[in-house]
Amino acid sequence: MSHSILIKNALIVTVNPQMDVFRGDLLVRGNRIDELAPSLNISADETIDAIDYIITPGFVQTHVHLCQVLFRNLADDLSLLDWLTKKIWPFESSHTPESISLSAQLGIAELIKSGTTTIMDMGTVRHQDAIFEALAQSGMSAVAGKAMMDFGDRPEGLQETTQQSIDESVRLLKQWHGYDDGRLQYAFAPRFALSCTRELLQETGRLAREYRVLYHTHASENIKESELVRERFGVSNIQLFDKLEATDHLCLAHCVWTDHDDKELLQDKKINVLHCPSANLKLGSGIAPIPDYLERGINVSLGADGAPCNNNLNIFQEMRLAALIQKPLSGPQSMPADAVLKMATINGARALNMENQIGSIEVGKRADLTFIKNNQVHSIPFDNVYSKLVYSTQANDVEHVLLNGKWVLKAGILQTIDEKKVLQSVNKTLAKLLQTSK
Ligand SMILES: [Zn+2]
Repeated sequence: MSHSILIKNALIVTVNPQMDVFRGDLLVRGNRIDELAPSLNISADETIDAIDYIITPGFVQTHVHLCQVLFRNLADDLSLLDWLTKKIWPFESSHTPESISLSAQLGIAELIKSGTTTIMDMGTVRHQDAIFEALAQSGMSAVAGKAMMDFGDRPEGLQETTQQSIDESVRLLKQWHGYDDGRLQYAFAPRFALSCTRELLQETGRLAREYRVLYHTHASENIKESELVRERFGVSNIQLFDKLEATDHLCLAHCVWTDHDDKELLQDKKINVLHCPSANLKLGSGIAPIPDYLERGINVSLGADGAPCNNNLNIFQEMRLAALIQKPLSGPQSMPADAVLKMATINGARALNMENQIGSIEVGKRADLTFIKNNQVHSIPFDNVYSKLVYSTQANDVEHVLLNGKWVLKAGILQTIDEKKVLQSVNKTLAKLLQTSK
């Protein structure tokens, strides 16, 4: 019989289709939510009184870069293309398997401590196995893939031919896709149109369909990038991916610079928009027209993007900002808190094709649960729990996290990552890496 956990008296924010919120009990059996009711009179292997907690679905961030976490706070005040070519690519190019593993562990530690349980990650060109190994050991749930870059000026460590890029991606897919009952999945990840040949973009789309995996890339983040794509390919970023028939399940990070036709395409082709408000502001990229997307029924989810363009991976910060940045443009009624919470949970699940597994608290779904301290001076009182979660909850309020039915955070302490060891290693590893990136 699989391990059971009975959680009593919690304020449960389900994010189910009815958006039910109630005080009650929840039974986890194995890695699934087995029962959910105002009161459950059953015994379990483990019982927790959660009267002091709000329980939300584990948060889903659909666009992050674990390989960049080691470069946090090292690349401020630059616009996208300079940020990439002057800072991020030289850094990424210098990564070793050890440094990339540490970067991933640091990122996963921060993500878990702030309640995120599933991510979609874009890796770098090499050493992707180290990211998958860190994900595997941490218990984190992820859709990940190596960055593909077969075109344009880039440092030596990020150079690869079209065939090498595709072969390595397929090798990784075969090795990692479906690991631990689907906890880890593969996604093809061409970096963005400017760093890829047409051939690579097209072949990757064909392969994504053949292997039934996601296609994850950046598009229309920055005005200059969007202009360069139009110059080189003769169409807009969004039109390009549509024309290449990239896939039937396309995930595009940013979509800040889109015109009327692009928006129609996003809507018609059910393209998933991965919104990263902090990164869009910090790189001065712009403000994505999210209220318009939502009105069109486009699926919009959230991501912190890279630590060097944020500089955190904290979903609460991302939710708050996703709401606030639209209000001066579209009015205070735009982006209500419940819509923002959906973006950070069920919409993320939908983008990852995992809406039957994660993103809400429902019987049969995976037991990915975030326990948030309710009674905090900065977040009481409240009437609308969504308001509390989006505007006044802090990352530190996350006390426990259950992921795939296992405790990955208990009383604020990471269970699968040696936090002290990670903290001790960061400066030394970074110093070594900066030596070689000069
Ligand atoms: Zn990104």
